[in-house]
Amino acid sequence: MTKANCYDLAVIGGGVIGLAHAFVAARAGKRVCVIEKDSRANGASIRNFGFITVTGQERGDSWTLARRTRDVWVEIAAQAGLTVEHEGLFVTARSSEAVAVIEAFLATEMGAGCRVLAPDAFRNLAGGLGGPDLAGVLYSPHEIRVESRTVIPILTAWLREALGVVFLNETVAFDATPPRLHTSRGVVEAGAVVVCPGDDFVTLYPDRIASFGLQKCRLSMLKLADPGFRLPGAVMSDLSLTRYRGYAALPQARALEARLREEQSSHFDNGVHLIVAQGGDGGLIVGDSHHYSHLPAPFAPAQAEADILDEYQRAMGRAAPEVVERWTGVYAVADDRTYLIDTPEPGVRLVIVTSGTGASTGFGIAERVIADLFNIDLETHA
Ligand SMILES: Cc1cc2nc3c(=O)[nH]c(=O)nc-3n(C[C@H](O)[C@H](O)[C@H](O)COP(=O)(O)OP(=O)(O)OC[C@H]3O[C@@H](n4cnc5c(N)ncnc54)[C@H](O)[C@@H]3O)c2cc1C
Repeated sequence: MTKANCYDLAVIGGGVIGLAHAFVAARAGKRVCVIEKDSRANGASIRNFGFITVTGQERGDSWTLARRTRDVWVEIAAQAGLTVEHEGLFVTARSSEAVAVIEAFLATEMGAGCRVLAPDAFRNLAGGLGGPDLAGVLYSPHEIRVESRTVIPILTAWLREALGVVFLNETVAFDATPPRLHTSRGVVEAGAVVVCPGDDFVTLYPDRIASFGLQKCRLSMLKLADPGFRLPGAVMSDLSLTRYRGYAALPQARALEARLREEQSSHFDNGVHLIVAQGGDGGLIVGDSHHYSHLPAPFAPAQAEADILDEYQRAMGRAAPEVVERWTGVYAVADDRTYLIDTPEPGVRLVIVTSGTGASTGFGIAERVIADLFNIDLETHA
């Protein structure tokens, strides 16, 4: 299709999953529009850590998608002028049970390129960080970290300017049936549609989405003042080893979880684990908690924040700096899958990441969806 307001692909949703599909299709030569109901993406995609996680993703498909997605982020960062704030991951371990999980992880194919650091080696790298009970650290070189709140708008502008993607903002898609979509600003013509609605389960294909039994997860996040040190990469801790499926599915994680449930029951009640990532201004993005429901209440418990800051102190070995920002975010979750790709009707794909990993797996997922939807070999369009 070549007429104005007439596209090969309409993407509904301007979050990272919608942008990933727009990028892959536009790079393959398709004329693409993105329909976004807000004036810019304002949901999970700008509220997250911007942590492009490979190590710890669920073994198999998600891990493969994450490696591919990380590579695409690196490629796009160079072209679009996105700043990679830091690289690599340090998972600090305070108990022998946690070290056992790390050792078991390293023995799998997912441990390729990763290694254990002794406590002093980590302290030397990280300016003395780490509590007195630090027992070992898993180091992974595979991760990158971007500042989502600035990178998503820059990526959006680059897609518009460099790849000709048209953004129809403050526009709600009322349906998604090609070749004519009805929106709050009139008809859009498109040969194919990808619906990337994030945690909006009711505007488009509500019955279809309901059939997957999804829930929503609300997370509490904090920004801490510049602590005066510079992290060598993102930091996680023992609790993460029981939450990220690449570690948590290992048999050794059961003993760790039993111990942590006993010693840190409030953290478990609030679904708290620790990620600490640093931005260009020195501030630390720190989180998070996990509360599940069909309708996340806007009331975030103060105890969840206290638990996050407590875990920060245990892992980093020093008190948390002043909290300078607080926010919550919501994403879709499912018990039985990390993402879903559905075909509600011909020429339409519904794509929802259901595991809080969209920034880490989105480009890999989008490549599969676009190759299938247009029946093209993406290697020839790269
Ligand atoms: C606090 C937090 C921390 C996280 N940390 C990480 C992390 O570090 N790494 C990672 O990989 N993942 C992380 N995640 C998960 C990740 O952010 C999500 O998986 C991802 O952002 C989902 O992207 P999305 O585009 O599907 O959804 P969203 O960002 O929610 O975007 C969906 C968009 O669709 C629009 N929309 C919906 N329906 C319509 C319609 N009918 N018409 C027009 N527009 C519509 C909405 O307005 C919205 O902008 C985190 C999530 C949260 C909340």
